[in-house]
Amino acid sequence: MTFYEFGLKEPINKALTELGLEKPTQIQEKVIPLVLEKFDVMAKAQTGSGKTASFVLPILENFMNNSYEGKAKIRTLVLAPTRELALQVSNSFQSLSKYFHKKPKITTIIGGEDISQQLLDVQKGSDIVVATAGRLLDIISKKQINLSNLEYFVLDEADKLLDLGFQEELDLILEQIPKKRQNLLFSATYPQKVLEIASKITKEAKEVFL
Ligand code: AMP
Repeated sequence: MTFYEFGLKEPINKALTELGLEKPTQIQEKVIPLVLEKFDVMAKAQTGSGKTASFVLPILENFMNNSYEGKAKIRTLVLAPTRELALQVSNSFQSLSKYFHKKPKITTIIGGEDISQQLLDVQKGSDIVVATAGRLLDIISKKQINLSNLEYFVLDEADKLLDLGFQEELDLILEQIPKKRQNLLFSATYPQKVLEIASKITKEAKEVFL
């Protein structure tokens, strides 16, 4: 199949074409329709499988469908285990929304960089926040971020996040976000601890185990 068959909006198709992306990968073929249909998803996905675009594309499609006037509210939160991954995810949101008339405001909240600039960006209004757990929790504890409008919660590379010891941070973040939301969880492996987190986070998730 081709990306056109998902019926995504023209600016998204234009960006895909420009990036030379024609055919969805296996994971994209399965995950994109499920996200568009509003299911929670729990997917087994390795780096290089195209997992990033499998959540970025339907989230951007929804953004185009439900754009509103006024200051941006955080409707998507992506949690990534490392700064590098967070930056990659932000770049993907950026490049695939390049042709939007109204572009989403994307903020990357990661350690090792100036926190005051990140605080400023969040306060100016963000639609999409891509974060690492420690720095996000810092900002949450300063009461400087409003996550009450969240619609999508994405946990990327969940196994790695837990291996790096971020279980407690994750639990604290989960306490701060609305209960009613759509959850997308990606992990290369599914040991018991990832299954436990998945059952805590997702509701009646569709499983994509290729
Ligand atoms: P990821 O698994 O999300 O880290 O993606 C790995 C790489 O695959 C990235 O450089 C993407 O640009 C590329 N990619 C994603 N989707 C596709 C696709 N459908 N066809 C070809 N390359 C892709």
